[in-house]
Amino acid sequence: MLILFVLLGLVVGAFINQLGSDLPARRSLTRPHCPYCGTERPVWQWVSVPAYLVNRALCTSCGARIRLRNPLAEIGLSVAYGYLWIAWGPSIQLALYLVYTAILALVLITDIERRLILNVVMYPAIAFAFIASFFTPNLPWTYALAGGAIGFGFFFLAAVVGTALFGCGALGGGDVKLAAFVGLITGFPLVIEALILTLIMGAAISALLLLTRIRSLRDPIPYGPFLVAGAIVTLLWGYPIAEWFLY
Ligand SMILES: [Zn+2]
Repeated sequence: MLILFVLLGLVVGAFINQLGSDLPARRSLTRPHCPYCGTERPVWQWVSVPAYLVNRALCTSCGARIRLRNPLAEIGLSVAYGYLWIAWGPSIQLALYLVYTAILALVLITDIERRLILNVVMYPAIAFAFIASFFTPNLPWTYALAGGAIGFGFFFLAAVVGTALFGCGALGGGDVKLAAFVGLITGFPLVIEALILTLIMGAAISALLLLTRIRSLRDPIPYGPFLVAGAIVTLLWGYPIAEWFLY
């Protein structure tokens, strides 16, 4: 079963890669193709990890290498899926978390590559998480809704204050919707831990980038990736971390 879930992660990762290329370009789903010459990839290249393993990750027409993002996303999701199977076994949580990690991976790809958190991703994700909260055994829907409201409210306020202080918004509407989604899936009170982790990671990485002069104070911090990281850490180890911190 573990091997099955690892393989499932690879395939879902390939699908998320394709969405991550097609959705920001505002087009419907295409078959995997080379972004440089447009040649469609043969089926054995649709999942890029095997192609990389046999050193054949090149476009069959123009020879351009398949972007490194593809195997990274596939490996990331296959590790996550394997871990989720070990941690939850056959359960509703497992099914939901498989969907949530795929959504978060897609957000990570579009936000890092294009600084976009798309409505076409976030609205269905929020609707799904809301409906799913009625079926989640360990999280009553009222707590999920409260979590969503807190995530939304916190980032909405931060966006308003940030815009007032710095003129241009450091936080976009996409970040606010992502925060609402993270709040829905972690629920109250864990959403607070997810937000705190987001802020700590954001501050630490920003300080590092400032110190190494990769970025300047004027550059806005993209909070999307930190929200994703905070959400994943909280979903997987939320209560152990809270206990360790509080007691
Ligand atoms: Zn090509």
